[in-house]
Amino acid sequence: MKPSVLIIYTGGTIGMINDPLTGELKSFDFNLIDEHVPELNRLNVDMTTISFSTPIDSSNMQPENWVEIGELIEANYSKFDGFVVLHGSDTMAYTGSALSFMFDGLRKPVIITGSQLPIGTIRTDGKENLITAIEIAASKDSSGEPIIQEVAIYFEYHLYRGNRSTKDSASNFQAIKSPNLTELAAAGVNIEYRHEILYRTTSTDLTVQKAFNKRVALIKLYPGIDFTIYKSVFDRAKVDGIVLETFGAGNAPKSADLEQLCSEFITEGGYILNITQCNTGKVQHGMYETSSLFDRIGVISGADMTAEAAVTKMMSVLANSDREDVSQCLSENLRGELTI
Ligand code: ASP
Repeated sequence: MKPSVLIIYTGGTIGMINDPLTGELKSFDFNLIDEHVPELNRLNVDMTTISFSTPIDSSNMQPENWVEIGELIEANYSKFDGFVVLHGSDTMAYTGSALSFMFDGLRKPVIITGSQLPIGTIRTDGKENLITAIEIAASKDSSGEPIIQEVAIYFEYHLYRGNRSTKDSASNFQAIKSPNLTELAAAGVNIEYRHEILYRTTSTDLTVQKAFNKRVALIKLYPGIDFTIYKSVFDRAKVDGIVLETFGAGNAPKSADLEQLCSEFITEGGYILNITQCNTGKVQHGMYETSSLFDRIGVISGADMTAEAAVTKMMSVLANSDREDVSQCLSENLRGELTI
């Protein structure tokens, strides 16, 4: 029997064509995808497509849209061998992270892809991305188990873990990278999987955590930063969690304002997660004097998480975990998103 793949089109450049009259890029009816990519008919895969009622530029993606994608996968989980989510590249890494935290017990591939040029243009990167993403979503090992059992992003010959990915280029075909974890697979003549790093769940059943707490803020430090400008971000009436993007191995300038804002925020029940602005390496509290404050006042180390993973993890954990579990969930490795 042919493997079956559900393709969910959310929007983004991949599903656009040039309107011959106006020259503008617009979304086409994705149910007619095989008219634009006739090669799909030669894949040995049964494909079904579903489209968002109004496809969106991924800059407009909201947690509600992550839930919509998650619910489509949940409702169709037993009917398909794998899932391909077509998505704009701008916020693809946020969706790749958010979906990974939503699904506990996932044992099928959820492959997100998109493109830098519309699928209807001659030099499009969309065809290869789409075809290989479908092939990966349909792939099983010799015992009939899906090879990928996690949320991943396929872009320009590379498959990355969703919650390790980041948008790296606004113009190169290689738009997505995974700076702190090697690729899960490389597509050349063959698709070479790195079996030793593929994520495997220990949960038996699929559960989908659909709540996200939007009372989360992200602050990137810079030399000269005046923390009093950010006072309202540390206001517990409005904010439950803050991701701090610090320097190097998790360092911040010595500042009485920062110390006071952070410690009051935490004492009042807020959570602060420390991640680094560096692309590679990780936060190590106490390595320098400029980070030892954080351990003392209860800031949590985000290790080598991307900003995308840190923000979505905080949104998910704050909405779905009991109060006494939040700190532990934030610091531990839930879905392969960090290296302890
Ligand atoms: N702005 C587009 C989007 O993210 C870019 C893309 O599709 O890659 O939806």
